[in-house]
Amino acid sequence: MKNDCLFCAIAAGEIPSNKVYEDDLCYGFYDIDPQAPTHFLVIPKEHISSVAAVSAENSAVVAHIFEVIAKVTKELGLESYRVVSNIGEQAGQSVFHLHFHVLSGRDMTWPPG
Ligand code: AMP
Ligand code: ZN
Repeated sequence: MKNDCLFCAIAAGEIPSNKVYEDDLCYGFYDIDPQAPTHFLVIPKEHISSVAAVSAENSAVVAHIFEVIAKVTKELGLESYRVVSNIGEQAGQSVFHLHFHVLSGRDMTWPPG
């Protein structure tokens, strides 16, 4: 756990969140500022700063997170959704702990803004 990391603190239960899923490796919770009718985040419990810090040593959790996204979206009855990860400030990353946004329930534009 990294000091002063908001999502490490959320994964550890030190800061409250609206949980949608949890296991030993990852944690899913609803975004505090939803950008779609359904908007939750899935994060590894281990601190990884972004996709840019994924490596051969830590990438297994990323595959696991995508399995979890497939499972949780099915359980929520979501047939169409978008998975997004912002890397770096220019792309809109504001929390520097790897997270995958899952957005659903409205029409989405392409390319994204
Ligand atoms: P990003 O801007 O891609 O780094 O995404 C960070 C996301 O975390 C944003 O969508 C925020 O609304 C969300 N967020 C920030 N603080 C919290 C919190 N305490 N609980 C839930 N979501 C949060
Ligand atoms: Zn962290």
